[in-house]
Amino acid sequence: MESNPSLVWSIVNNTCPQCRKVNIFSHSAFSSRFLEVKEHCDNCQARLIPEPGFYYGAMYFIYGLQVAIIVVVLTILNIFLPDPRWYYYAITSTLLILLTATVCARLSRSMMLHFFGGLQYKG
Ligand SMILES: [Zn+2]
Repeated sequence: MESNPSLVWSIVNNTCPQCRKVNIFSHSAFSSRFLEVKEHCDNCQARLIPEPGFYYGAMYFIYGLQVAIIVVVLTILNIFLPDPRWYYYAITSTLLILLTATVCARLSRSMMLHFFGGLQYKG
């Protein structure tokens, strides 16, 4: 019997919220079109763009993700460095935002689709 991947696995791997088998993005993360989501799932035909402008809401998820990453890393920095200078925080925060931007942007779209996309079929 084939088990269905979990919701968290599906969000992290950017797979279709319905069948959890096919990637929702049409291009790789290293492409200049890395944020393009397919119209429909290749496997189950679920609609991956529920309405025009649907993914504008993903900006709230990316904001939350990046704030969470920064808070965790700056807390770790504060624990391991006895008296860090202010620019340690500024440089670390800037580097983290730049390094995680692509991953967070794709993850935020996946979260938006899984939490608010509903299950809609090609029609
Ligand atoms: Zn699917």
